[in-house]
Amino acid sequence: MDFDRDYAMLIGGKLDGGGGRFDVLNPATEGVIGTAPDATPDDLDRAIAAARAAFPGWAATPIADRKAALNAMGQAVLANADAFKRLLTAEQGKPHSEAEGEVIGAGYWLMGAASLDLPVTVNEDSDERYSETRRVPLGVVGAISPWNFPLLLAMFKVGPALLAGNAMVLKPSPFTPLTTLKFGELVKDMLPPGVLNIVTGGDALGPWMTGHKGFDKISFTGSTATGRRVMESAAPTLKRVTLELGGNDAAIVMPDVDVEKVAEDLFWAAFRNNGQICIATKRMYVHKDIYEELRDALVAYAKTVKVGDGAQQGTQIGPINNEPQYRRVLDLIQDAKDKGYKFLVGGEAAGVPGYFVPVTILDNPPEDSRIVQEEQFGPVLPLIKFDDYDDVVARANATEYGLGGSVWGADEDRAFDIAQRIASGTVWVNETQHLSPTAAFGGMKQSGVGVEGGVEGLLEYTSAQTIVRRKKPHAKV
Ligand code: NAD
Repeated sequence: MDFDRDYAMLIGGKLDGGGGRFDVLNPATEGVIGTAPDATPDDLDRAIAAARAAFPGWAATPIADRKAALNAMGQAVLANADAFKRLLTAEQGKPHSEAEGEVIGAGYWLMGAASLDLPVTVNEDSDERYSETRRVPLGVVGAISPWNFPLLLAMFKVGPALLAGNAMVLKPSPFTPLTTLKFGELVKDMLPPGVLNIVTGGDALGPWMTGHKGFDKISFTGSTATGRRVMESAAPTLKRVTLELGGNDAAIVMPDVDVEKVAEDLFWAAFRNNGQICIATKRMYVHKDIYEELRDALVAYAKTVKVGDGAQQGTQIGPINNEPQYRRVLDLIQDAKDKGYKFLVGGEAAGVPGYFVPVTILDNPPEDSRIVQEEQFGPVLPLIKFDDYDDVVARANATEYGLGGSVWGADEDRAFDIAQRIASGTVWVNETQHLSPTAAFGGMKQSGVGVEGGVEGLLEYTSAQTIVRRKKPHAKV
C-alpha cells in the first residue's frame, strides 16, 4: 500500500488497512486523491473491543496526564498544519487559507478542551454526613462527524470525550475521511492503544455504530434527518446521545448599520466555506430603509469573489464538497427559477469539471419559498425585506431549526434585545460563527440535543455520581 495515498484506520493503537477500500475524490476535479478502508462489521467489532479494553486504564489515568496527552496531540496538529491543510483542501474543496484556519482551530480546540476541569459539587458537609457529586466517564463513545469541517468537528468530540476519561471510536464522513485518518496516524503513539480508534466506511457503517451494544454514547454531527435516525437507533440500548444538527440561521440587519462597513462581513457570514456551515447565515432579513443599498453592496462584492480550485492561489470559494450536495443545491436553484424569483447574481452552474456552483443571491423571494424555508448548505442566499421588528423575530423563529442567528445594528442595546428573542442555541450581535472550546454550543428545537464545548459540553461525556458518607452513627431508636 502507498501510505501517502491509501490511508489506514487506527484500531487498538495500530494502523489497520481493513478489507476493502473506497476512493476519495477531489471535489474541484472529480479525480481520485486517495483511498480509505471500507470497514466491515468485524472491523468495527475489533475497534469497539479495543476501546472497551482501553477504557478502565484511561479512566483511571490522572486527569493531568489526560490533559497532557491532549495538549501534545494539539501541538502535533499545529506542527503538521501545512500537510493537513493540503490534504484538507484536496478532500473537502475549501481554499488553502480556510483549510489552514480549520487545522489550526483543530489543534487549539484540543488544547482548549484540555483547559477544562470536571466539577465536584459538595451537597452536604455536616456533622452527620458528607455528600458530593462527581463526574465519571461513560465508557466507550461512538463519534460520527460530517464533511464540512472534517478535522475540526472531529476534535470537538475527541477533546472533551478523552479528557473526561472515555475511550472512543471515531468515524468521519466517507466524503472526507483522509484528514481524520492522517490524524490517527499522527497521534497513535501519544495515547495508550485503543483509547482512540478511527474507522472509515460507506453508508452502512454509521447505522452499525448507532445500533451497536458496545457503545455507551453516540456523539453525532450531521443533518437533522440523519440525527432522527441516530436517536431512534440508539434508543433500544438507551445510549446517551449528543446531536449537533442542521440549521437555517437568520441574520437580521437593522436600519442603523453602516452598510459599507458590514457588507463584506455579511457576505462571508453566508458564503464562508461555500455556505457549507451549520451556522452559516441562510436567510438574510434586511430592513426596508437600507434594503436596496445593502443589496447593491452585497452584489458588487460578490462579483469580486474568486470561485475555483481551493489549491490555487487567490481562490476564495471552492467547490461544493460532494455530488449529492451539489445536486441538492442545484435543485433549490432550479426551484427558484421555476417559481420566477429574481436572481441578483449567479444561478447558472459553471459547466466545468468539479462541483462548482456560483455565488447566488436572490432578491426578496417569498417567506414560504423553499430557499427561505430549507437549509441550502451551499452558496445561495435569499435577501428578504422587513419593516417591523416583532414580525421579523416571528419569521426568524418560524422554523423547526434553532441553531444560530445574528443581529446587526449600531444601537447595540436594541440589537441585543432582539438577539435575546431569537430561539437559537447561539445568537451573535455584529458578528457570526465565533465558537470557543470553553463555551457551550448546540441547537434548540430540531437543531440538536445537548451541546458541545464548555463545561456543559464536557459533562455530556460523563455520568453524575453522588457519593454519600455517613460521619456519625445513626442514633439508636
Ligand atoms: P449527514 O447527516 O449526511 O452525515 C453526517 C455523518 O453521519 C457522516 O459521517 C455520515 O456518514 C453519517 N451517517 C449517515 N447516515 C447515517 C445513519 N443512518 N446513521 C449513522 N450515521 C450516519 O450530514 P452531512 O451531509 O455530512 O453534513 C451536513 C449537515 O450537517 C448539515 O445539515 C449541517 O447543518 C449539519 N452540521 C451541523 C453542525 C452542528 O454543529 N450543529 C456542524 C456541521 C454540520
